[in-house]
Amino acid sequence: MRKKIVAGNWKMNTLVKEGLALASNINDELKNQTLRNEVEVIIAPPFTHLTSVSEVVDNNKISISSQNCATECCGAYTGEISAEMLKNIGCRAVILGHSERRAYYGETSETLIKKTEQVLKNKMTPIFCCGEMLEEREANNHFKIVETQISEALFHLSEEDFANIVIAYEPVWAIGTGVTASKEQAQEMHAHIRTVIKAKYGNTIADNLTILYGGSVKPNNAKEIFSQPDVDGGLIGGASMKAESFIEIIKAI
Ligand code: PEP
Repeated sequence: MRKKIVAGNWKMNTLVKEGLALASNINDELKNQTLRNEVEVIIAPPFTHLTSVSEVVDNNKISISSQNCATECCGAYTGEISAEMLKNIGCRAVILGHSERRAYYGETSETLIKKTEQVLKNKMTPIFCCGEMLEEREANNHFKIVETQISEALFHLSEEDFANIVIAYEPVWAIGTGVTASKEQAQEMHAHIRTVIKAKYGNTIADNLTILYGGSVKPNNAKEIFSQPDVDGGLIGGASMKAESFIEIIKAI
């Protein structure tokens, strides 16, 4: 059975004190829950919080992820943070290619090839984000766009490496807008992604691939999205910033 994941992307929000309070609340709330299904809970605070947050949560229940990493391993890259540094402070995953990074920081498939390599080399999980813009969906290009984002950045990987990837399908028009994809739109794209992976890597890898949906998932819509057969959890922005709503979403798995 493939792994279910609910991951919270805090983006550039909270100061350390608030982040620690949020992480402890999530940790405490989670302790009191009996979840119906096995689910890995991940939180992705800003870089500055990673060490202290990982010290206040039960690392058997909550995995820590960063939101980005450098393309290079080390050296004269002022201001960058390497995958090895993240691994060293206990990160288990790295979000890569979020649409905000593609749009505001010019991340391309070439950048993402290098970042993915660094994350895999350091035995962490790349949470690889992909998703189309509204104009691309309206022009009926959404399948092609997502397929290209995945194939350009990931299809050079060996089967062994690809088996460690998690994909997050995040339609750009649904991120932070309050407009979520319908359950049919999410299922249709997730099934398409799985078909594309199947054609390249075969049935076993495709069937075991965790594909998350992201884009305005809230406690009131999580259940119907997560009930879709090819949706294996969510990447949650806004609603992961309150322990109660994040826990409600986790419970919806
Ligand atoms: C995100 O930033 O990855 C995201 C899905 O945000 P939101 O849930 O706020 O739409």
